[in-house]
Amino acid sequence: MINSNKFLKSVLDTVTQHISVIDKDGKIVYVNKSWIAFGESNNCSMHNVWDKINYLKECDKSASCGDELGAKAADGIRDVINKIKDFFYFEYPCHSPYEKRWFMMRVIPFGLDDKEYYVISHENITERVLAEEKVLNQSRIDGLTDIANRRYFDEFLDNEWKRCARLKLPLSLAIIDLDYFKALNDTYGHQAGDECLRKVGAVLKKFVHRPADFCARYGGEEFAIVLGDTTAENSFDMMNDLIDDIRALGIPNKNSSVIPTLTASVGVATMYPHTRGSKEELISAADKMLYNVKENGRNKVLYFT
Ligand code: GH3
Ligand code: MG
Ligand code: MG
Repeated sequence: MINSNKFLKSVLDTVTQHISVIDKDGKIVYVNKSWIAFGESNNCSMHNVWDKINYLKECDKSASCGDELGAKAADGIRDVINKIKDFFYFEYPCHSPYEKRWFMMRVIPFGLDDKEYYVISHENITERVLAEEKVLNQSRIDGLTDIANRRYFDEFLDNEWKRCARLKLPLSLAIIDLDYFKALNDTYGHQAGDECLRKVGAVLKKFVHRPADFCARYGGEEFAIVLGDTTAENSFDMMNDLIDDIRALGIPNKNSSVIPTLTASVGVATMYPHTRGSKEELISAADKMLYNVKENGRNKVLYFT
């Protein structure tokens, strides 16, 4: 009984992984129930004629339509068939219109009666990927203000520097420092200071809209805004709106030497990044501008190009 084909097929039909077996030419010779069910639920034309399909050629077809994942899968399968690799594992996104999904594809060879076969399996790994994303996001967010932390800022600015260098786009950075914040803490207490940092974080969030925009808590009472593909003039205007909004929060700071309400100073720098340089140039230029604002009365924006 346990050696019968029917028995083994029944076992494979209980497995949630989508499994197919292909021969050396890429032709499908077997699929399990999960494979068929997945094809049906995704309106995949392969599902009812799977035994007439060449899987490798299907991957090639999607690759020739510009599908990078199809190309990777085809390359991986060929590497195993040509014995360049013992096996091939590949994690890939496969989002449906209703949900985000990720899968792991595995290609594992076996021989039977002097013939080579390859088990292709696809396993849904969405739960694991989402859990990893959650942990990654938690390590990137500042606990107090709920915006990006310094570590994530460094990572983002690095990438944005490289992207703007490649595409020859201007990149702007604003460093925002709250004025006389020590006085605010000393006058109203540390908790009031914390609440104020939260409110400023929320204001910053309103100034980032596009994928190339980013705000972060840079340090204690310092914040940063990255504006990719944004000119100095536009950044300057935006940052003037930002300090207006921070002032408009109306947070009392009666011992500030500027006005008895919380204000902020901003240094902005805009550069056309080049591949030889690094983001440190931009940070140091914005820092210098911030220093100048602090020397010249605070509650202002100064920019450097
Ligand atoms: P300036 O106008 O020159 O920037 O003066 P300042 O008082 O804002 O600057 P200073 O660097 O002297 O003081 C910053 C203060 O920010 C001191 C520090 O206790 C406070 N601070 C830093 N992080 C936090 C925080 O997480 N919560 C609170 N409540 N205060 C913080
Ligand atoms: Mg400071
Ligand atoms: Mg300060």
